[in-house]
Amino acid sequence: MRPSQPNLLFVMSDDHAAHAISAYTSRTAPGGPSDPERPQINHTPNLDRIAAGGMRFDACFCTNSICTPSRASVLTGTYNHVNGVTTLVTPMDNTLDTFPKQLQAAGYQTALFGKWHLGHGPEHDPTGFDRWRVLPGQGHYHNPVMLQPRPDGRGHTIVERGGYVTDLITDDALAWLDTRDPDRPFAMLVHHKAPHRSWEPSREHFTLFDDIDIPEPSTLWDDHEGRAEVVRSMRMRLMDLDPVIDLKASIPPGLSEDDEVRWRYQRYIKDYLRTIASIDDNVGRLLDRLDDEGIADDTVVVYTSDQGFFLGDHGWFDKRMMYEESVAMPLLVRYPPMIAPGSVCGEIALNVDFAPTFLELAGVDVPDEVQGTSLSPLLRGERPDDWQQSMYYRYWMHDDGIHRVPAHYGVRTRTHKLIGYYNDPLGQTGARRSDDPPEWELFDLVADPHELHNVIGDAVYRDVALELHAELQRLQSEVGDLPHPGAEAEFSRLLSIG
Ligand code: CA
Repeated sequence: MRPSQPNLLFVMSDDHAAHAISAYTSRTAPGGPSDPERPQINHTPNLDRIAAGGMRFDACFCTNSICTPSRASVLTGTYNHVNGVTTLVTPMDNTLDTFPKQLQAAGYQTALFGKWHLGHGPEHDPTGFDRWRVLPGQGHYHNPVMLQPRPDGRGHTIVERGGYVTDLITDDALAWLDTRDPDRPFAMLVHHKAPHRSWEPSREHFTLFDDIDIPEPSTLWDDHEGRAEVVRSMRMRLMDLDPVIDLKASIPPGLSEDDEVRWRYQRYIKDYLRTIASIDDNVGRLLDRLDDEGIADDTVVVYTSDQGFFLGDHGWFDKRMMYEESVAMPLLVRYPPMIAPGSVCGEIALNVDFAPTFLELAGVDVPDEVQGTSLSPLLRGERPDDWQQSMYYRYWMHDDGIHRVPAHYGVRTRTHKLIGYYNDPLGQTGARRSDDPPEWELFDLVADPHELHNVIGDAVYRDVALELHAELQRLQSEVGDLPHPGAEAEFSRLLSIG
């Protein structure tokens, strides 16, 4: 018997940049050369199966490029100033309404396996799931411990697991599918730890790429000329990677600095991609199961990541920034009854849009509190005239003392991006204060897709800057967030307003 509501298989990895999925990089004809601007750096045949059978979103963005906040936005459909999860140290109130709770109340069987990372302690355990087993905090790649509910329902208990984390999470997901009631729909969330730092591969992939060099990004040697001073002083350069923890090797003696950067890039990117090879294998196991059970047509399959990642782009690793490689999320969705195979969508989609999408596909009313918009018209191939043409972004976690990324907010349209670095922790517990003055950046994404030329001070772009700033104010008002007085004063000064 076919469930009247579709199943949902939601796979979300951690820090998986879209440009490390071959469906996103092989944009020339099959078998042809890869785009030199976006070189193909790996092959992900199983993730590509989702893209080939469904839709690839090319303009999906997170509203705050950091793990815990993005996860909260995905689950609740709200921005971080609303759900309260603005930083890594602001746990989610697990009494908040989420799409799994809504689906559970609508009769779905719900389960969560893998990374949760929305707070420590039993008061922050997952809620809304019939079954869950998660990693504590970041968790470990090899022989991880996991948490699951105590049989009496009071708090959690710790389970020791032998094996590799990506395999184990998938094992748990497949085992749960065996035990479910096939006559009721399910919503299963599979949250991989990989490819999060410190990029530790499985045994099967230890030597993958040993005999090749991975192509370098075109912006590897970006000198950050003309960018905000706070951006130029961030500590996300490849030279900031830890040789022991991140690169797992001593620096070879005698290298020039350029050669050391190249060596570091290869050490870093190969381990990153090795952990993704394991994700790809394991997504294949899940897709095969849907095929074997004959439920692929009844199941919405989603692959995404909580944010993007710099893969040596601009000479950086990590995320946090509103720059493209970090703010972009991969989003692949397959649902044969609704989505044309091999389709591509360039409309703006956001992490806050996921929850209302899943609810609408399940025929469940979207609560008024949800701020996102259902993507279902886009999935059907429609392009509504009033579809969102811009997005609001805010990174709250000012200068964590490690990456030194400043607090900032901004707006991205289809053609431009305006970013205000307000450099203020705004009462964040334990955050470092700085004396850095506010700064602004403006990028013309059509003329400068790699965001190398900050044109905020260019008179040619004055009208564009004013238009974008007005749009930023409109979006802040719409979502209920507040502008920063210091940053706004600096914008007025720069544009000689008032
Ligand atoms: Ca993440």
